[in-house]
Amino acid sequence: MGKVSREIVGDKVDEVIEQLNKALADEWLAYTQYLMASKLVNKKVVEQELVSIAKEELEHAEELFERIAKLNGKPVVDPKQYLEITNCGYEVPTEDVKKVLQDSIKAEGCAIRVYKKIADMTKDTDPLTYELMLHIMDEEEDHETRFETLLESM
Ligand code: FE
Ligand code: FE
Repeated sequence: MGKVSREIVGDKVDEVIEQLNKALADEWLAYTQYLMASKLVNKKVVEQELVSIAKEELEHAEELFERIAKLNGKPVVDPKQYLEITNCGYEVPTEDVKKVLQDSIKAEGCAIRVYKKIADMTKDTDPLTYELMLHIMDEEEDHETRFETLLESM
């Protein structure tokens, strides 16, 4: 990021980078949680949704990585740190389909709150991060709905 971009983003940039790294940890953990859960649950429709949504979480992790790098931040790449800095945590998946879906709904709700918070932080100062937060938040809302629909059908 060059001089003018840095001027625009302003002195909150370090705090924004820190929050983006915490969200990166959440995405990586959500990806892992959903992918492992998809292997454990014995229900085709749930398995497919978990795999499909896990892929989107991985995309979010990549998008966050790229934005952090653009802001001249250092993306966290050590998974040991992900468990330390995460907002939303990691629920160890089991074969219990309902529990997997409840844990997934909880993770999505947490993610939506995280992106709302970073969107509020960047609304007036960092339009590109703001736009990315809206894009990811839109997909998290979709995930929440899809998991809720599955749980209702159980
Ligand atoms: Fe995500
Ligand atoms: Fe999600």
